[in-house]
Amino acid sequence: MNLDNIFAKKEIWEEIECPICDVQEKPSHYRDISSWEYKGVYKLSRCTKCGLIFQTPRIKNQYACLYYQSEKYWGVTLPHFSRRQVETKNNFQRYKQVYKRYQERKPGRMLDVGCGTGEFLDWFKCKGWETVGTDISLKPLVYAKKTLGLEVIHGDLLEIDQRKKTFDLVSTMHVFEHLYEPRKSLKKISTILKDSGELIITIPNHESLGRILFGASWFQYQPGRHIFYYTPDTIKRMLSLCGFEVVDVDYWTKKDSLYSIYQSIRYTFSPKFRKSSEGGIASGDPKLARVKREFSLTYEVSKGVASIITALIFVTEYFFGLSEVITVYAKKA
Ligand SMILES: [Zn+2]
Repeated sequence: MNLDNIFAKKEIWEEIECPICDVQEKPSHYRDISSWEYKGVYKLSRCTKCGLIFQTPRIKNQYACLYYQSEKYWGVTLPHFSRRQVETKNNFQRYKQVYKRYQERKPGRMLDVGCGTGEFLDWFKCKGWETVGTDISLKPLVYAKKTLGLEVIHGDLLEIDQRKKTFDLVSTMHVFEHLYEPRKSLKKISTILKDSGELIITIPNHESLGRILFGASWFQYQPGRHIFYYTPDTIKRMLSLCGFEVVDVDYWTKKDSLYSIYQSIRYTFSPKFRKSSEGGIASGDPKLARVKREFSLTYEVSKGVASIITALIFVTEYFFGLSEVITVYAKKA
């Protein structure tokens, strides 16, 4: 069945309130955004009390998997494992800062929530950690199990059965903004994490310079998948509400931030993407690939200019603590 037809059904949508505050009044409308993959305009609201930004109405949780069907989403052509080395290298560059932090740590037991194809977990496994991954999408998990030999669980974090206080580390890399029940999820993490354990959250930063500059064309606005848009302040509030305290916030997320800025420039200036935001060309559409393969001087020059602007914005963001993506380290309070 066509996705647009499913999304058109009113009964699969729900309105939500701020998960941090018990505010009686309706959250105020913040802005409308469109997706470059799916049709329609999505509404974002801002909590009048704590400032948390979230998508409401949102599609109900049981239908959320519809947004994760595209294989392109996982960055690999899943049935073919030829890209494994490339993926491992990309993953290493992406999470270099996290790996630096854990390089010398005594290995323990870890859980990666939303592990996808499993490259992040694989680094820890190679360092001697006992690893478990979980994801709501089955296809990438099959890949993680078959190619990387990882122990994986298919399902929602809230439903997986794990013994209490048995993990030394729980990670959610680019996952927390997708979680439907962030408070319940943190409570669950708190029960399975040892008292001395650590939690890593890598999320887009709604307080980034990129968001301010690009507005509705900001790359991290991904309605359907990104439900909540945190800032260093709102994620700290959320964590403290669930018994965690922030140990460290890392703004040096080079690979993710550069990618985010570059994509935002494309969404803002490329007619191709502007058009797709109205019509909805999927990221894996061959139409996009065909345009890329043809040589065009204008395209090459704009790519160069976009790269220079990207670098300038990235340096400014880091310098002022306004990075596109942040990594938060937390422990039980
Ligand atoms: Zn609130």
